[in-house]
Amino acid sequence: MKYDYLIVGAGLYGAVMAHELHQRGKKCLVIDRRDHIAGNIYCEDIEGIHVHKYGAHIFHTSDKKIWDYMNQFAEFNHYINSPVAVYKDELYNLPFNMNTFSKMWGIRTPQEAKDMIARQVEEAGITEPKNLEEQCLSLVGRDVFEKLVKGYTEKQWGRDCKDLPSFIIRRLPVRFTYDNNYFNDRYQGIPIGGYTAVVERMLEGIEVRTNTDFFKFREEHPDIAEKIIFTGMIDEYFGYQLGALEYRSVRFETEVLDCENYQGNAVVNYTDKEVPYTRVIEHKHFEFGKQDKTVISREYSSEWQVGMEPYYPVNDAKNSELYAEYKKLAAAEENVTFGGRLGNYQYYDMDKVVGAALAAAEAIL
Ligand SMILES: Cc1cc2nc3c(=O)[nH]c(=O)nc-3n(C[C@H](O)[C@H](O)[C@H](O)COP(=O)(O)OP(=O)(O)OC[C@H]3O[C@@H](n4cnc5c(N)ncnc54)[C@H](O)[C@@H]3O)c2cc1C
Repeated sequence: MKYDYLIVGAGLYGAVMAHELHQRGKKCLVIDRRDHIAGNIYCEDIEGIHVHKYGAHIFHTSDKKIWDYMNQFAEFNHYINSPVAVYKDELYNLPFNMNTFSKMWGIRTPQEAKDMIARQVEEAGITEPKNLEEQCLSLVGRDVFEKLVKGYTEKQWGRDCKDLPSFIIRRLPVRFTYDNNYFNDRYQGIPIGGYTAVVERMLEGIEVRTNTDFFKFREEHPDIAEKIIFTGMIDEYFGYQLGALEYRSVRFETEVLDCENYQGNAVVNYTDKEVPYTRVIEHKHFEFGKQDKTVISREYSSEWQVGMEPYYPVNDAKNSELYAEYKKLAAAEENVTFGGRLGNYQYYDMDKVVGAALAAAEAIL
């Protein structure tokens, strides 16, 4: 055995795991089938701008331990995520807060906003929501639902809100202060120098091979490592023998524009159904960029098929049951640890991925 650990996937989970194992003297090899490291947090340099190739990523956490851990690898800037929503020719602040309500209803005080929502919720008259539309109407009333939730959600899921289960939106956070900060977390920011540099530092001193697919590599090198950390898709690992787990996918249309500032904000959501994309990201604003040009990405939500890039797991009853079966197979697999968003078939924010990798490394060691 040439290595103690073969780590499949150079994303955040694989990189934290590799870093921890390497720090404790284990010999690791990291492989990734893509032609770059950093997985979905990879940033591509276009016109001197860090372009979030697999979707906009904002680091946020309330866990000081995780924040301090990440700060070993980069200093973070003071970016605060404050998306703007465009509904037809109207503009609103997100998340739903007093700025949103003031614009929508011409009101000023929290009490006026609460009264308006309570009146619309009462008008909807829904006691037991049977679908996502009824759930929203019973939480925030008709105006917020129609203008800010309906079109966006229908584009995201490719289905009418009446045909979506209510559990997708359990709560709709409503803030009765003039506060546009999307996250409630104590710590937030973008790493200065970009995410790829963070992962590069995590992997310092560790052998990494990109353009290397695990399944082919394993055939050629069956005994290369004592143990495997697998952060790819759990169903693919088992040859889809129980069926494929489903995902929602996203398509990005990225364009360089010959202007300094296109939309004045990093994240703009398009909440009416007529606009085919869900969001436009202007990447330079994550880092307060002053470049002459700008780069934008339009995001289109799409169905997923085997072979496409998987983004969001569909954690409905059918897929959760299927994952539970794969998890049993995984538990019986000797010397393999499954982790990360694909290995655990779970949507994880970055701080949760770091936490999970640190805990798994601790358990292994
Ligand atoms: C659109 C979008 C936006 C997001 N925004 C945020 C955000 O703002 N803030 C936040 O905290 N989190 C965000 N996240 C979550 C974040 O992306 C994840 O927490 C994180 O990227 C997961 O890291 P990972 O290592 O588990 O997976 P990945 O980054 O996907 O890494 C897995 C790696 O394994 C490789 N791999 C897979 N199979 C094989 C194989 N057979 N052989 C070799 N290599 C293989 C892949 O190529 C990939 O590089 C977002 C997620 C999405 C989808």
